[in-house]
Amino acid sequence: MNISFSPPFIDQQVIDEVLDTLHTNWITSGPKVKALEDELMAITGSPAAICVNSWTSGAIMALNWFGVGPGDEVIVPAYSYCATALCVLHCGATPVMVDILDDLTINPEAVLARITPRTKAIIAVDIAGLPCHYNRLNELIHAKDVRDLFVPASVKQADLGRILLISDAAHSIGASYQGRPAALMSDMTIFSFHAVKNVTTGEGGCICLNLPAGFDVATESRYLKMLSLNGQSKDAFTKSQGGSWRYDILFKGFKMNMPDICAAIGLAQLRQYTAVLLPMRKKIYHKYLSAFMAQDWFIPPVYADGIRESSCHLFALRIRGISEEVRDELIAELALSGIQANVHFIPMPMLTYFESLGYQIADYPESRRQFAWEISLPIYPQLRDEETDFVIDCVLDAVNAKIGSVEVPALTD
Ligand SMILES: *Cc1c(COP(=O)(O)O)cnc(C)c1O
Repeated sequence: MNISFSPPFIDQQVIDEVLDTLHTNWITSGPKVKALEDELMAITGSPAAICVNSWTSGAIMALNWFGVGPGDEVIVPAYSYCATALCVLHCGATPVMVDILDDLTINPEAVLARITPRTKAIIAVDIAGLPCHYNRLNELIHAKDVRDLFVPASVKQADLGRILLISDAAHSIGASYQGRPAALMSDMTIFSFHAVKNVTTGEGGCICLNLPAGFDVATESRYLKMLSLNGQSKDAFTKSQGGSWRYDILFKGFKMNMPDICAAIGLAQLRQYTAVLLPMRKKIYHKYLSAFMAQDWFIPPVYADGIRESSCHLFALRIRGISEEVRDELIAELALSGIQANVHFIPMPMLTYFESLGYQIADYPESRRQFAWEISLPIYPQLRDEETDFVIDCVLDAVNAKIGSVEVPALTD
């Protein structure tokens, strides 16, 4: 069998929606983007959604909106995709990396320890689809002593009067927190619709706003739309309506808008996401969970804990105590059986560029430990039952053969 890691979900509905876009002759930002934003507001419960051309663009826009720049710090987990820190660097600010908990989400106490008068924002990553510990993170940023430390240096910063909490929800569309959409737990939630994510537009992303009272959502949403489109007073679609050609450039915007041809793909997926696609992911996730549960090397990923519920973006298999080398050998053996597995993530301090900036993996022991143990298995709606069974059999064979042959250190926790 040949089992790819994370192919996009392209069914007839997706194809029809894209063809519809082509037939209308309007392929850049227009009605499909608007329809996708409406669907996103519905699924996240957010009062505003601004589609952009990637998560990275959305994060740069969010930080720029808040006035984050040189001399500022943004706290991010060391265990994430590089974009979580690169967006901060693109704004001229400094990513302050902190370690994770054993559920792979950012450690709120480590966040607290790194807050300084320079801290402007926190980017919490809902890794694998599991929401972060948002109650604790919100408690931190609202605490009087933390608020007293905050030094506002822009109008938005003064209006908010505290650290901005951004959720990196690249993995977590459809995740929930205390029975509500997880996107309601931060000031801004940014999704990625990159080709491998739960919902894809090829490349794309979305900023969902959940700003506190005092901010006018419609005004901020309009501003962010313009920020994604050169600071132009009218978008191309509005301009194309008869007689409406004149526009102005009001400020130094970016060019980060999402085209309709991309939105069409995500729109057709999102319409069937809650009822069909997400349950199919969850079914595979639970099949993996029950298949591995009896193995004493298996560290189950958190699906739900009474407060948080995952969107099952990744199935992060973790094999207690193995070394990075053994993990890599296991992935190579799965590849020989035709199974593409992956690792999420190489902690950023282990990547050449971040190392060159002075980040050291020794400062993030939990990230390093979890990285060595982790193998992400294929999980997507099109994965058939017999394919899931095959993955399970191959993993059990490979790991049990390996565990029998190598010394595994005793449990340390
Ligand atoms: C994919 C991903 C991103 C980046 O998304 P793009 O849309 O490719 O910019 C950011 N953070 C995490 C955790 C991701 O997995």
